[in-house]
Amino acid sequence: MAMDKTTQALWLPVTQMKDLEEHPALRICSGKGIYLYDAEGKPYMDAISSWWTNIFGHANPRITRTLAEQAARLEHVMLAGVTHPPAEDLARRLTTLTPDELTRVFFAGDGASAVEIAMKMSYASRRNTGHTEKRRFVGLSGGYHGETLGALSLCGHDAFSDIFRPLMPDNLSVTGPDCYRCPHGKTRNDCDAECFEHMEGALEKHGREVTAVFIEPMAQGAAGWRFYSPRYLRKLRECTRHHDIHLVFDEIAVGFGRLGTMFAMEQAGVTPDFLTLSKSITSGTLPLSVVMTTDAIYEAFLGDFTQMKAFMHSHTYMGNPLACAVANETLSMFEEGNVLETNKPKYRHLANHAALRFADHRHVGEVRSLGFITCVELVSDRATKTPFDWRLRTGFRIFREALKRGVLLRNLGDCLYFLPPYVITQDEITRLVDVAHAAMVEILGE
Ligand SMILES: *Cc1c(COP(=O)(O)O)cnc(C)c1O
Repeated sequence: MAMDKTTQALWLPVTQMKDLEEHPALRICSGKGIYLYDAEGKPYMDAISSWWTNIFGHANPRITRTLAEQAARLEHVMLAGVTHPPAEDLARRLTTLTPDELTRVFFAGDGASAVEIAMKMSYASRRNTGHTEKRRFVGLSGGYHGETLGALSLCGHDAFSDIFRPLMPDNLSVTGPDCYRCPHGKTRNDCDAECFEHMEGALEKHGREVTAVFIEPMAQGAAGWRFYSPRYLRKLRECTRHHDIHLVFDEIAVGFGRLGTMFAMEQAGVTPDFLTLSKSITSGTLPLSVVMTTDAIYEAFLGDFTQMKAFMHSHTYMGNPLACAVANETLSMFEEGNVLETNKPKYRHLANHAALRFADHRHVGEVRSLGFITCVELVSDRATKTPFDWRLRTGFRIFREALKRGVLLRNLGDCLYFLPPYVITQDEITRLVDVAHAAMVEILGE
């Protein structure tokens, strides 16, 4: 099927454009609450919060009003040597929401930029204090931190990084936790984090040259929502302290209540040296990301200007006033709406109903839930946990089938997952799971 000229000009991300000849891209013209609407007005339930961003629904009236008011007052000003009230307020509010040690807030635009900034800040703080031997970073298998070259060098996904490997810094990749296919036969609940031995060994061996470890606390998203024990993070904190290594928590995906607590790190009771945030921070309205860090890091950059210690890094739209204003409104909605409590019965229902519908199917390896995320991992053989041949595109075919039925799932390989906006109702959760189940049965049989 030939595409018209407008479609041809648009090149979509992580998409084999040739596929669109057979399955044209979904074309969304408006949104309201948990629904997206195409040109004919057909609704699609947004089961994954538009790439894990939207928490309070599309075209949320409070967010829209705040945006309009801020646009009429001040739409943008550069942040170099300039401040503005929305950025000041947001920085202050983020420091009150997070552990006391996180006192400094540096803004950027996308998640990957925040990760790059944390990398550069960690290394530059070493350089400024005369520890230049510390210049390697550690990431985990299954880890995901964005796709610019620096961030990509920390990712443990060959599909994204393999061809770019020759361009990337020489970082260490350490085997991360995988509770579904645990080689020690443990589950998330009885795990004493034997899997930490890989990290312990790597830091023992290379600790002297490592400046920072990057990790997604509690849940590796792009790996197919692998959840793991908070004990891993406590051991990691201890071990990184021992080797004088910065610990970076990338909460870009899970910050702002997704795992049940405002931030995932609260579940481990551990404070990192750097925290990266983005995605839901603006309720999924505008790009904004944040790097938070400690006084110790901040002070490594202070000095007379002739010492050239300032952190030399900028993005044109960093700390954009519109984005900061909707982020502040997002935080107000958390404060006023008792969101974390209201979410609890909803995500319990999601976990229970998904387990009820999916758990017994012969191609379901595991149904796992943490907070407002439930993931169904499909396998060709349950007993051996053998995945489907990726060329069968099993998850993708179920995604296509669910789309026909009005649910936008967007699978991660053969993991189907539900990560809906918090404003979804219990009845809508039931429908979402039932439709996804029907789509799976259509492709894989009863
Ligand atoms: C999405 C994501 C990123 C990258 O953010 P972008 O805004 O897409 O650059 C980084 N880390 C994690 C954990 C993410 O989920």
